[in-house]
Amino acid sequence: MKVYINGKFYDKDDAKVSVFDHGFLYGDGIFEGIRLYSGNVFRLPNHMDRLFRSAKAIALDLPWTKQEIADAVCAACRENKLTDAYIRLVISRGKGALGLSPLTCSDPQLVIIADQIQLYKAELYENGLKAITVPTRRNSPAALPPMVKSLNYLNNILAKIEAQNQGFSECLLLNSEGYVAECSGDNVFIVFEGKLITPPISCASLGGITRGAVIDLAKRLNIPFEEKVLTRFDIWTADECFLTGTAAKLIPLVELDGRKIGEDGKPGQITKTLINAFNEIASKEGVKI
Ligand code: PMP
Repeated sequence: MKVYINGKFYDKDDAKVSVFDHGFLYGDGIFEGIRLYSGNVFRLPNHMDRLFRSAKAIALDLPWTKQEIADAVCAACRENKLTDAYIRLVISRGKGALGLSPLTCSDPQLVIIADQIQLYKAELYENGLKAITVPTRRNSPAALPPMVKSLNYLNNILAKIEAQNQGFSECLLLNSEGYVAECSGDNVFIVFEGKLITPPISCASLGGITRGAVIDLAKRLNIPFEEKVLTRFDIWTADECFLTGTAAKLIPLVELDGRKIGEDGKPGQITKTLINAFNEIASKEGVKI
């Protein structure tokens, strides 16, 4: 595997950044998780827009254009002869002095890793996941804004650990006001009385690229859709529920906090329709590498 760093490709074991990089020292940086399906990079311009918004939010001036970074993403896929992959794009603040100040850093590092990923077993896509709500809340927008895909994911990692300690692989995080935000690395949707519903971004959820694609699909398929503030009650009593993310794609959630979702705790019809529709567009839409 070849890893892209600042315009050059390195063998996996030689792909290195400095221990003085503030990305390593403080989690000072940003990232994107991107998907390549059948030789097409899914919604690459949307990922570039989100990346540049993250950079702006953390006051990181990028010395590359969106097009240059998008070209590098495609080059990393070609270099590794991949047609289907998960692409991790990381930009760190760069080397600096010890101490928090980003003013001592002048060389942001652009790293692109393109590899295979299988987040969940095939069986879980058929039968659905079970999750619990964890005590750790999603970052308040008054602290590190949840819209920033920063290198500082400890909040989500703590939530994941809490789920794993209880024997679950996935969890629901509420926001600081107690409303549904999202899962540890995925957005959440429910279906209630035929309507597709997801919390608005203002509930401290990330503006997921997959979330956006599902909303577009709902419109195309004439599935009524609404953004609405949700409580745990809404998920417990939903007819269907599923999660969305670049790595996970769409995966049904069939149980939350010991409550079976829907009548039988099985993936619902609208969920299955959207999963099929997503799989169909995923390999057709996108930027050809
Ligand atoms: N929420 C969080 C916290 C995430 O990290 C991610 C991406 N891993 C998502 C939601 C889903 O976003 P996307 O569909 O863009 O992958």
